[in-house]
Amino acid sequence: MAKARIMVVDDESIVRMDIREILLEQGYEVVAEASDGEAAIAQALAHRPDLIVMDVKMPKMNGLKAGRIIYQKASIPLLALTAYSHGELVDEAKTSGIMAYLVKPVTESDLIPSLEIALAQADRLKRMNAQIEDLKQSLANRKLVERAKGLLMEQHQLNERVAYEKMRSFCMDRRVTLEELARTIIQLEAFPE
Ligand SMILES: [Mg+2]
Repeated sequence: MAKARIMVVDDESIVRMDIREILLEQGYEVVAEASDGEAAIAQALAHRPDLIVMDVKMPKMNGLKAGRIIYQKASIPLLALTAYSHGELVDEAKTSGIMAYLVKPVTESDLIPSLEIALAQADRLKRMNAQIEDLKQSLANRKLVERAKGLLMEQHQLNERVAYEKMRSFCMDRRVTLEELARTIIQLEAFPE
């Protein structure tokens, strides 16, 4: 698997340089850098990195706020760099896309495992969200089919099993999905003839 594309954000250029060097040495790609929260938002949206290593305490806009905006707009996860206590970050993590955090100063032996954890967490979250979307969709489809079946039962005095079998065999003959047929049945009900 290709190594991740990372963006590095810190108001201290020496910290950015250190982190960039570690990342490059380990084969990661550093696609963008920024030194404050506002620039971080612009850079993140322009470069769409896989992960942002983000300092918390920065001028103009802090890393948590910037991270939250970036996460809302583009779902890009964060590895937060902080000198703060952990408790403060826990609440923020829910809305700002923080997958892991590191307490400064950053060393290579800390950075790489934290980064990999953050990437793995972000990947898991992404897959979970995709599953939730799938579930929502199939639930919506099922409701649609149920509604159409109800209409058929009512219009043609059919029992549930017969109505469903009619829909299924129609779908097989015409090579349409149950959802497509259900949509048509519901539309015909709304606009008869
Ligand atoms: Mg700072």
